[in-house]
Amino acid sequence: MSATSSVSITASTRVDQLPGVGAVRARHLAHLGIVTVSDLLRHLPMRYELEAAESSVQELPGKGIGAVRGTIVGTRWVASHGGRTRGRFEATLEGQGGRILLTWFNARYLVDKLHPGHQIRVWGKVDTFRDYRQMVNPKWELLDDSQAPARDERIRPIYPASEQINSAAIERLIGQVLDAVLPTIHDPLPEELRKRNALPDLAQAFRMAHRPGDMDETGAARRRLAYNELLLLQLGIAIKRHYNEHVLHAPALRWSRAIDEHIRQRFPFELTEAQRRVCEEIARDLQRDRPMNRLLQGDVGAGKTVVALYALLMAVADRKQGVLMAPTELLAEQHMASLSNMLAGSQVRIALLTGSLPAAARRQLLDDIVEGRIDIVVGTQALLGGAVRFKDLALAVIDEQHRFGVMQRAFLRQLAGGAAEGEDTADAQNHRVPHCLVMTATPIPRTLSLTVFGDLDVSTITGLPPGRQPIITRVVGPEKSDDVYRYMVQRLERGEQAYVVVPAIDEENARATNAQLKSVRAHVKLLQDKYCGQRFRVAAVHGRLKRETREAIMKRFRDGFYHVLVATTVIEVGVDVPNASVMVVEHAERFGLAQLHQLRGRVGRGANGRQALCVFIADPTTPEASQRMAAIASTTDGFKIAESDLEIIGMGDFFGTRQHGAPPLRVAEIPRDLELLNLARRDAQTIVDADPALTAPEHHRLRAILTHQYGQTLGLIDVG
Ligand code: ADP
Ligand code: MG
Repeated sequence: MSATSSVSITASTRVDQLPGVGAVRARHLAHLGIVTVSDLLRHLPMRYELEAAESSVQELPGKGIGAVRGTIVGTRWVASHGGRTRGRFEATLEGQGGRILLTWFNARYLVDKLHPGHQIRVWGKVDTFRDYRQMVNPKWELLDDSQAPARDERIRPIYPASEQINSAAIERLIGQVLDAVLPTIHDPLPEELRKRNALPDLAQAFRMAHRPGDMDETGAARRRLAYNELLLLQLGIAIKRHYNEHVLHAPALRWSRAIDEHIRQRFPFELTEAQRRVCEEIARDLQRDRPMNRLLQGDVGAGKTVVALYALLMAVADRKQGVLMAPTELLAEQHMASLSNMLAGSQVRIALLTGSLPAAARRQLLDDIVEGRIDIVVGTQALLGGAVRFKDLALAVIDEQHRFGVMQRAFLRQLAGGAAEGEDTADAQNHRVPHCLVMTATPIPRTLSLTVFGDLDVSTITGLPPGRQPIITRVVGPEKSDDVYRYMVQRLERGEQAYVVVPAIDEENARATNAQLKSVRAHVKLLQDKYCGQRFRVAAVHGRLKRETREAIMKRFRDGFYHVLVATTVIEVGVDVPNASVMVVEHAERFGLAQLHQLRGRVGRGANGRQALCVFIADPTTPEASQRMAAIASTTDGFKIAESDLEIIGMGDFFGTRQHGAPPLRVAEIPRDLELLNLARRDAQTIVDADPALTAPEHHRLRAILTHQYGQTLGLIDVG
């Protein structure tokens, strides 16, 4: 008995243990995200095609849909005068009862794939030319085994595939494991719930997806698998909420009209209506002894910082501490500067914790923080991990956070840990955490904030502070670049500064993407030589520079030493250079909509009444790219943009898959499955209300999956 045939197949079997899957094929499968049989099973068809029953050549219809098998007896590539890749590939297939001509247009790659002697099955549209049957651009698959049984009419699943592995090969592989693995799949859904919602059981659903009997089955499979994802997501959220409400607690902060007025006196301007409303929402949360878990969203420049300061000062007013975390040191410094301004002459003690602090000063500062001699600490999230302990941390504000919430709970608990390790077991047992405010300029469409981020409460600052000039947006073709840069120079002459954003880092990288991307280096040279000359200084920042170098260059740009900053999207987050009022984005068609909006938000941050201008140089080659360009040009409202983005790309990619920490949805689509989502939400709530820790026997499987998917971030471990 050979080793391979004795392998009993379960979901966790690695695909490289399957017969016929060698190291190379395993690697190709891995590129598709398929490592285990479970991955294979979850590699679902993206659509289905009706495939004709296989027949002999004689029985093929003269015109219509057909399928036939045979041996290739001749091939040739017929180039058309247009060049190397244009032309047609022809193969003559000899099957039962005759020959048939197969033609594929512009498919030069077939020259290396199909050779005389190959046994193949082809299917598609049949036509007759001078009594000779032919098929144009038929689908095909190699038959490893000439004895493979003829196919009946059937629904053929079409899988996401790659150049190395086509859909038919994936289908064969799935066919190889399906019967063995289905009986080993246990449905995590309680029977009662499954019946109530008229859902097939999980093994059935996988069978229906991969080997449907009819089209209704594909629909039922999809519904079940989508529900599964949504239910798990909603359970995660419901458990987190429950945990937050019933297990954790946070210091309830005092608040009064007097405190409110006192805080607001510190601000150099009147709060807008929206800012006032949001401050009140936050104040209400902070007065409770349950941890606030709030997301503050507001477009770039909407004025979130002052709201954060309001919340931090509430902590200080109650003689507790607050911390403000920024994604970069530069931004932390900027926050420090504006907080210091607003707090000048007050009793509030604030400190900046940066990487450049000498060791002795750092030790002193850490000591001051833990002894309560500092009220507000500003720093980057990285700097605040690990060593920092607070005496009495009441609030953590996380600025420009794009990974929402998931990893934060453990981190915050650790920050709140008080004095030294071990001394504080009482607090640890009390599950004490600080309140948490997360700020983001990536607006979340309502459908998402209600669902995926359902464990966060959301506050929104709408509109911009008064006196802000709207940004003018232009989308132009590449042939206009010369005009664009000439105009940019005119603006530089008036004392303004400009960003130029490019997608790639160096020539090698640019070539790899097969398009003539403007790289940072080449672009700096072009701008310097052709447009800026001796008068204006051009600098570059990109992700390959060391962080310190990058921030040093940014600083010199902010201070006006450099006039033009050529950058990759590293400037996307948080930088505030009021004097920079022009932005040019090269190859804008390559950027996501949300990203373009973030980039645009870097200009027009106020100052000097200058008219901010953003030019997207784009050459959209897909309908989707054109849609994006139209959307970015039509509005500066981040919420509208987020909604269009969701429509264009779907939720899976909304923040870039996995970025937000929630498991990505593979089957369910929002907003398409909104109804299913609401169903899952209600069901999840019912389950968690009755059994918050999922300890009932009928919930064991759900619990196991959730623990695996979310790890300890869910708090399940503490609950159990
Ligand atoms: P973001 O929401 O992008 O973090 P900021 O907090 O940096 O925005 O605010 C952008 C600018 O608007 C800052 O210069 C800030 O001082 C100013 N600003 C904020 N609120 C107001 C207001 N109510 N009135 C006038 N200017 C304001
Ligand atoms: Mg900000």
